[in-house]
Amino acid sequence: MLKLSQPNVSADAIERVAEVLRSGHLVHGPESDAFERELAEYLGCRDVVLVSSGTAALHLALMSLDIGPGDAVLLPDFTFPATANAVMLVGARPVIVDVEAQTYNISVDALRAAVKGWSGPEALKAVIPVHEFGCPLAMARIQSIAAEYGLSIVEDAACALGATVDGMKAGAIGTIGCFSFHPRKTLTTGEGGALATGDASLAQRLRRLRSHGMERTPAGLTFTEVSSNYRLTQFQAVLGQSQLPHLDDWIARRRELANRYSRVLSTMRDAGRLALPLSVPGHSWQTFMVVLSDAIERASVVAALRERGIEAGPGAQSLSSIGLYGEASPTPIIGQMLAKQGLALPLYETLSDADVDRVCAALDEVVR
Ligand SMILES: *Cc1c(COP(=O)(O)O)cnc(C)c1O
Repeated sequence: MLKLSQPNVSADAIERVAEVLRSGHLVHGPESDAFERELAEYLGCRDVVLVSSGTAALHLALMSLDIGPGDAVLLPDFTFPATANAVMLVGARPVIVDVEAQTYNISVDALRAAVKGWSGPEALKAVIPVHEFGCPLAMARIQSIAAEYGLSIVEDAACALGATVDGMKAGAIGTIGCFSFHPRKTLTTGEGGALATGDASLAQRLRRLRSHGMERTPAGLTFTEVSSNYRLTQFQAVLGQSQLPHLDDWIARRRELANRYSRVLSTMRDAGRLALPLSVPGHSWQTFMVVLSDAIERASVVAALRERGIEAGPGAQSLSSIGLYGEASPTPIIGQMLAKQGLALPLYETLSDADVDRVCAALDEVVR
C-alpha cells in the first residue's frame, strides 16, 4: 500500500530516543531546550516554545494574546478544524473567510472585505492565516491589513515547517507562528508542536502557559495564571531534533516529486478532469492535493485507488460546512468546493519517481 505519508525515523533517531528513555529524564529537559534553540535558529526567530501538539500551540497563542469572549478572529474556510477549535476554546468567535482556488490559502481580497465590512458585536482582534499544505502565503499584504486594523497575526504553519516566503520562514513572520509535529507533517515527534515568536515577553508568557501558568523564581514556584499542561516530552524532542538537519533535503525531494506529479498530471488537467495546485516558490509540499472536476465523485476515486494499493483522501475540511463554527457570510464557495473535490495523493521524501508515475497512471485509469 502506498500511504499518503510516511514518517522518516532513522536508526540514529531511535537510538537518541532510547538514550533519553534510559536516562530517566523523560519530561522537558536540556535536550528540549537545545531543540528549541536549534528550531529558533532554523526559523530565524528569537524564541521557540515546544508544546504537545499543533492544536496546543494555536490555543496557547490565542491565550497569550488575551483573546477571549467578546473577541473575533479571522481564519480561512479551508483548513484542519484545529484552527477554528482553538478560537472556540478561548471563547472567541471565528470569522470564516474564503480561500483561493490554486494555492488553497486565504484570499487576501476576501480577508480585506471581511475586515472592512465587519459589523459584529465582537471586536476583531487577530487573523490566523494558514500556510495550507506548506504553501507559503505572501504575508506582506496580511501584515498591512493587520497593521491598518490593529490585528495580531497568528500564523498556522502547522503544515509549513521549512516553507519560505520573501526570504523568511513561514511561521516566523507574524506575531506568533504555530507548528505541528504530527506524523502527517514533514518532521514528526508523534504528537507535538511548537510556537515561534520574536517577542520576548510573549515567549516568557507562552512558557508559563505551557506549564500550569507556573514560574520558577528564587523564592520558589509561583502560579500566576490559570492554564493547562501542554509540555512535550524530552524523548519526543530528541526525535524531532534528529530530523531537523535533514529537513531541507527532504523538502527539496518533495519539491521534485510535486513537480513530477504536476508534469505527469498536466494531460489530465488539459482534458478538464482535474486542477493542479500552484507551484509557489518556497512551498514545502507537506501535501500534494489535486481538485477533481465536478463530474467526478471523489469517494469512488478513493475506493478505486485503494483497490490498486494507493491511499488517497480529502485534503482538508471546510469550516463553514461543519456546522460547529457559525455561519460564514458570504458563503466560502471555493473552500467548500476544495473540501468536496480535493484529493490528496501520496507524498513523502522516500517516495520514488516510479511510485509517482504509478499513482498518476492509476488516477488516469480510475477517472476515465
Ligand atoms: C495538523 C494541523 C493542525 C493541528 O496539529 P496537531 O499537531 O495535529 O494538533 C492545525 N492546523 C493545520 C493547518 C494542520 O494541518
